[in-house]
Amino acid sequence: MSTNQLIGKVAVVTGASKGIGAAIAKDLAAAGASVVVNYASSRDGADRVVAEITGAGGRAVAVQADLSKPDQVASLFAATKREFGRVDILVNNAGIYEWAPLEQITPESFHRQFDLNVLGLILAVKEASPLFPEEGGSVINISSTVSTARFPGGTVYTATKGAVDAVTRVLAAELGPRKIRVNSVNPGMVDTEGAQSAGFIGSDMQKGIEAITPLGRIGKPEDISGITVFLAGPESSWITGESFFISGGMR
Ligand code: NAP
Repeated sequence: MSTNQLIGKVAVVTGASKGIGAAIAKDLAAAGASVVVNYASSRDGADRVVAEITGAGGRAVAVQADLSKPDQVASLFAATKREFGRVDILVNNAGIYEWAPLEQITPESFHRQFDLNVLGLILAVKEASPLFPEEGGSVINISSTVSTARFPGGTVYTATKGAVDAVTRVLAAELGPRKIRVNSVNPGMVDTEGAQSAGFIGSDMQKGIEAITPLGRIGKPEDISGITVFLAGPESSWITGESFFISGGMR
């Protein structure tokens, strides 16, 4: 992959204060993009990501916005417009996962996950849409391998990511005439702060997943950022509406 392929581009990465989003923000900046590092509550984490990017000679700003709240989705893109004037790359990464058996599912847990993982994502594309230039751009939705899997306990979370894959296909068709490409990246289990606090890391679930993973290990955030930079840049210019399963071969 050629370096500096994103010079002059503006990228918004939602949920970039830690985990997969932080790795994506840093790698997009390393490829030359100016990056909006969105976070909900982890100001320190977002500031650390920005400091790392600017320390390496890149351009980034941290912008707080809870993307499960429609007015805050709008304020994220108003801030982006003020700071950089446009959006070329949108990475919809902010997401939550709550694993629960059927009997523990509540309307509240359903809405918490759908309000961010699906509604927040759709509204982010809607708000970003007028900021894409005439030459188009790239939207990358961070979905999950669970969107096509059958793991017990994942009913609501799996439903959100199945919706993300479906939305990816439809928006690719709808925004294609404007040369805005829309793809999803579907990671397998990745060692992040979120996966650690959910109790996945070191669990029997991790061991079970590694046992059915051809490459025999779970992922690191950096395993997900490379393909995201590729999908953001010119080398993927004829790819849209696709879902890329990045999971060491686990399906
Ligand atoms: P993480 O470590 O928990 O980090 C989540 C990020 O999203 C943080 O920056 C967090 O910001 C932000 N966020 C949370 N709620 C938000 C909200 N309401 N508005 C804006 N930002 C919000 O998560 P991760 O494991 O890196 O997961 C990132 C994405 O990858 C998610 O969409 C997840 O579903 C997907 N994924 C993860 C895995 C995995 O195994 N880790 C596997 C497949 C897919 P604050 O810290 O400020 O709250």
